[in-house]
Amino acid sequence: MPHLPPQIDQPASPYLAELCEQLAAQSAAWDSTQNWPRESLQACAQYGVFRWFLPNEKGGFGWTPREIATGYLALGAACLTTTFVITQWVAAVKRLLASDCEDFFPLRQQVLEACLRGESHVTVGISHLTTSRRHLKHPVLRVRAKEQGYWLEGLSPWVTAATFADHMLIGATQDNGEQVLLLVPTCSSGITVEPPQALVALSASCTGAVRFDNVFVPHSHLVAGPHPNVLKTSGSPGAGGIQTSSLALALAHAAITFLQQQAEQRPELQEKAAQFDQQWQVAREQLMRMADGEPVCSNEDLRTDANSLVLRSTQAALVAAKGAGFVEGHPVGRWCREALFFLVWSCPQSVQDANLCELVGISD
Ligand SMILES: Cc1cc2nc3c(=O)[nH]c(=O)nc-3n(C[C@H](O)[C@H](O)[C@H](O)COP(=O)(O)OP(=O)(O)OC[C@H]3O[C@@H](n4cnc5c(N)ncnc54)[C@H](O)[C@@H]3O)c2cc1C
Repeated sequence: MPHLPPQIDQPASPYLAELCEQLAAQSAAWDSTQNWPRESLQACAQYGVFRWFLPNEKGGFGWTPREIATGYLALGAACLTTTFVITQWVAAVKRLLASDCEDFFPLRQQVLEACLRGESHVTVGISHLTTSRRHLKHPVLRVRAKEQGYWLEGLSPWVTAATFADHMLIGATQDNGEQVLLLVPTCSSGITVEPPQALVALSASCTGAVRFDNVFVPHSHLVAGPHPNVLKTSGSPGAGGIQTSSLALALAHAAITFLQQQAEQRPELQEKAAQFDQQWQVAREQLMRMADGEPVCSNEDLRTDANSLVLRSTQAALVAAKGAGFVEGHPVGRWCREALFFLVWSCPQSVQDANLCELVGISD
């Protein structure tokens, strides 16, 4: 009998640390488009990570938002690339679960079951409805409804893991401005998955554009809409949700832990490491209270603070690591690059403005 790892069915499970050790040990390998983090994702699947996000009646563990945030903090500190790929899976699955389109239910059941068995992967291409290509005159991905279903024409500029996904949850806009979400099989006729882009960091997430050349999608694949703002009605609002802040804080934690370890031998680092740790504890507390539904601040304010902390703490870790940290292969150099990701990923305008103000040195 093959040895199967135990399931991480609650955040206090000791196996979470065991999985994170495995992820951290492999994380350096996932730094190019040639290295899809298959083993790390498989390990997550075997330990039951994908079940965190599904309710009990769908075969999941039904974790609360606080428990999920706790899980993300641990996973993201161990391997940001793997955790990021999981967030894009979650972004799709959340919307599949929230769908009230009855014709879609049989396909949803089939896709979710295959995902949990590890036989299928699903991802998301929706940022052109929120944060990407919004300044252009016409939507980049258009949809026409006809009797038999929907026809897609255009581009989804950013789709993580598209090369490895069996289905993509895609947002598209009708000529009347209303939007739909469709679950599109990646093998549909007329789809071209562009080769993944080499990125400043997270290249192994295999993120790239997907083109749609008159792609037909049947009615039974409609997940939500048509609606003027389909993401608001589909289980999770647009960009900058608290899971994005969880990942930024997770990476900040890895950097602050490094700083604390260095400070053990270097008294000049001790006060700075302690201050970073205190700032991190405050941000973590805020994240947890937001996850509990307490309106302690807006999602955007939380994300702005998380962005600031992850950028400052990773660079502080580099200061501590000195030239050695600047050599390719040192984790601190990679963390600095990964921190830049939070300046561009799922960043609503208000967060972009706040990031710019901090860089200029304007305080509120
Ligand atoms: C690694 C990575 C993975 C991602 N994965 C996913 C995913 O799986 N699914 C998903 O849906 N999204 C994903 N995203 C998208 C992400 O959430 C953001 O939407 C994206 O980073 C926004 O950048 P953009 O270049 O598309 O923005 P745009 O706003 O399209 O900017 C592109 C360029 O347009 C010009 N420009 C911008 N604004 C204006 C303006 N007002 N006037 C004139 N010119 C302008 C600038 O020159 C800019 O460089 C991912 C992004 C990254 C970086």
